[in-house]
Amino acid sequence: MSAAEKTNLLNLDRQAMQDFFAAHGEKPFRATQVIQWIHQYGVDDFDAMTNLSKELRARLKAITEIRAPEIAQDQVAADGTRKWLLRLDDGNAIETVFIPEEDRGTLCVSSQVGCTLNCSFCSTGHQGFNRSLTVAEIISQLLVANRALGRAPKGERIITNVVLMGMGEPLLNFDNVVPAMRLMLDDYAYGLSRRRVTLSTAGVVPMMDRLREECPVSLAVSLHAPNDALRDQLVPLNKKYPIQELIEACRRYCADSPRSRVTFEYVMLDDVNDSVEHAHELVRILRDVPSKVNLIPFNSFPQTHYQRSSKPVIDRFRDVLIAAGLTTITRKTRGDDIDAACGQLAGQVQDRTRRRQRLTAGMD
Ligand code: SAH
Repeated sequence: MSAAEKTNLLNLDRQAMQDFFAAHGEKPFRATQVIQWIHQYGVDDFDAMTNLSKELRARLKAITEIRAPEIAQDQVAADGTRKWLLRLDDGNAIETVFIPEEDRGTLCVSSQVGCTLNCSFCSTGHQGFNRSLTVAEIISQLLVANRALGRAPKGERIITNVVLMGMGEPLLNFDNVVPAMRLMLDDYAYGLSRRRVTLSTAGVVPMMDRLREECPVSLAVSLHAPNDALRDQLVPLNKKYPIQELIEACRRYCADSPRSRVTFEYVMLDDVNDSVEHAHELVRILRDVPSKVNLIPFNSFPQTHYQRSSKPVIDRFRDVLIAAGLTTITRKTRGDDIDAACGQLAGQVQDRTRRRQRLTAGMD
């Protein structure tokens, strides 16, 4: 069997691994052992999997592989934020960012090579789109980062939280994102609680309902505007799923678990969406949703004409929300000196949508 036909075990969550082992006449607990070796211990050498028989190891070596993308670049920002550029098999590259904080370590994971949504203020959107990532390419970001970061002095993992807030729209890669998240939650793999895995979406309404049913992790929604006219311009997906439908989907998302709240992300763009009137409008639309608001100071990138709102304007906006009883924080900008901040991830996208050419030609 040639290498190209080998099954990459990184593509399998526990259920898929059990099915694979069953198809080869093996007991389900073997799947658990292998998941543990790969994801809990970070082992990719079958010979090190000492609780498997020699015969099983030899078979696995013959028909499977454990293959993660290579690190092409590893950068550390002045504030300790770390960004990896990971080279994929087809020449594309994606970015993954680790954000250390006092009480946690968050890994920001990509779900697609580029993005199809073309939000006007986002660098990833300007790169165009090539394809969705496989389960292996998504979970490998956690595997590779864990390996690079090592363990804390007492042996704990450095990564305590994962956010699907990197390149791409995770809900447009639902079939691969969900198994990858199941591995994040699996006690035999990464054992993260649902509260510590957050998926961020620009608002793919039908998929939000599926997520609620199939893998209800914490939800963040990129809102960015308090009315449809403005949101249509900033997040073109709004034309398909306008604000009211989106808010209703958020309400449904929270309905099953009384303590859950949706995080609404709101990028602060100078003179675009940052007035006191916008803040009041936002209060009105969020009135009946259990919510938290994250204000994100805009991060610049070369092709943009937007500017970041000034600090007093951001504070004024925040104060309106707080006065109305909304939990609101301003997200700290991290890693912007290495282009690792929100909306700055670009990777190396072999753009199949020819978006960049269209933009240069002024057709977009
Ligand atoms: N497609 C998903 C996942 C990306 S998350 C989503 O839209 O939610 C990345 C977050 O950073 C989103 O909230 C996005 O809107 C925000 N963002 C994008 N460009 C930005 C920029 N230039 N400055 C600050 N935040 C930005």
